[in-house]
Amino acid sequence: MFKLKVLITLILSFLLLSCNSDKPENLTIAKREVQKYYESGKFYEELNEVVEDAIDKFKDVEIKDSSVVIFDVDETVLNNYELAKQMGFGYVYKINKEWNAKATTPAFPQVKKLYDFLLSKGAHIIFLTGRNFPEYEVTYKNLKYAGFTVFDTLITQIGDETKMPAMEFKSMKRTELVKKGYDIIGTVGDQPSDVEGPYHGIQVRIPNYLYADIY
Ligand SMILES: [Mg+2]
Repeated sequence: MFKLKVLITLILSFLLLSCNSDKPENLTIAKREVQKYYESGKFYEELNEVVEDAIDKFKDVEIKDSSVVIFDVDETVLNNYELAKQMGFGYVYKINKEWNAKATTPAFPQVKKLYDFLLSKGAHIIFLTGRNFPEYEVTYKNLKYAGFTVFDTLITQIGDETKMPAMEFKSMKRTELVKKGYDIIGTVGDQPSDVEGPYHGIQVRIPNYLYADIY
């Protein structure tokens, strides 16, 4: 009888655990964990490792006149963590646009280090962002403000491009750049669309726990 009770308890515990595993994390707790990860500095330790690894990989690459590395902007070279916090780790259009208009978003110093390294090796830099053309000027200004003063071009979405999924848009733009004669030796970004698709070279995926482009 005792053994049967133990067996039943075990089965019930197993079933309970199985059910629990299907349940998501509480949103408030999940947000708090993300906040802690960034504010404790752990996020920046992870980012540091990603960048050091990338620098090691690029060290072995021969740079030609046509060599270019494509960087995304938000959560790649510009750190919008404080904005994300202001928006309660969601998305509030008005707050987002006001923040971007200030053009004072700080750089990730770690990614700036990678940018500086690539420039010192003689690579071209191009910024390719999903931001729309009305924000071209403020984005350009913000890049300069954050220390990204040398680059060939900044590409934003315009016209019908704004309706394209990021993956399609970024792949299309990279293909156009190759047709213009660029040799893409690397892509740096926080979303799959930044580093996947044709002509990506060395893929440097910047960690981002704040949001994801899901299509
Ligand atoms: Mg991004």
